[in-house]
Amino acid sequence: MRPAPLVPYLTALCLATMTVVALDAALASWPATVARPEGGTASATSTPGSTPGSAPGSTPESTPPEPRSVDTPPLAALRSAADLPPGRPFPQHGTGTWRVVPPPSAAGGTGFAYTVEVEDGVALPNGDDAFAAVVDHALRHPRGWSVRYAFRRVGGDVEPDLRIRLTSQQTARALCGFEMPFDTSCRVGSTVHLNTARWFRGAHTYDGDLRDYQVYAVNHEVGHFLGFGHEVCPVDGGPAPLMMQQTLSTDNDELAAITAGSDQGVVVVPDGKACEPNPWPSW
Ligand SMILES: [Zn+2]
Repeated sequence: MRPAPLVPYLTALCLATMTVVALDAALASWPATVARPEGGTASATSTPGSTPGSAPGSTPESTPPEPRSVDTPPLAALRSAADLPPGRPFPQHGTGTWRVVPPPSAAGGTGFAYTVEVEDGVALPNGDDAFAAVVDHALRHPRGWSVRYAFRRVGGDVEPDLRIRLTSQQTARALCGFEMPFDTSCRVGSTVHLNTARWFRGAHTYDGDLRDYQVYAVNHEVGHFLGFGHEVCPVDGGPAPLMMQQTLSTDNDELAAITAGSDQGVVVVPDGKACEPNPWPSW
């Protein structure tokens, strides 16, 4: 494969679990035909359950949050819920190029061809195949996107429709943005970047269930690739929509406070509804 240059092509930025989602108009209709963005412009389109947003790269936190009542938790406390959980060390730096993890067998069939890639300079304690196994598990699981979409893993000798990359924290910050600021994953064009910080540490919302969080991260970002935008908690006590920014919170009140002033492609109304973590799409 051709290594991707590490340049700030922040088109259609969407934080995996919490960043801005801007869906390319063409991508929303048929992702496989959309080339990687080349320029610095971003477009946003509406998606079911979401509100169109402006270009994510142009929406710094310039708008101060609304004044809060005295019984509202301090914003700092809410934001701490979205911080990276403590835990084991993780790779922080990479070279900005990625190696393709060879698939276990020759690709066949139909559907979106995807590669699994790891940034050069990132060493995984259990090897690249362990990362690829989680990605494959998410995309092939009967509760996942495979219900409606077909995926097939390919090697570096095939130009894929989708690249799913494990990307170091610092490279991810450059490509996904770090305005809020939280470590996030994102989808840029036809490339998903899964941030090593989150891959190794997860999110507070998943309360230590790292595997479920990893599956969530894969499915959420692939959901953006498929054309889906962010959602909010619809039913108090129910499962969080896969496309909710669960890395930040599964509570609408918290999510509204955390994302205040930052366009996430969805209007989050602090309506008191709180959902349970959920890594799968709902059908
Ligand atoms: Zn997202």
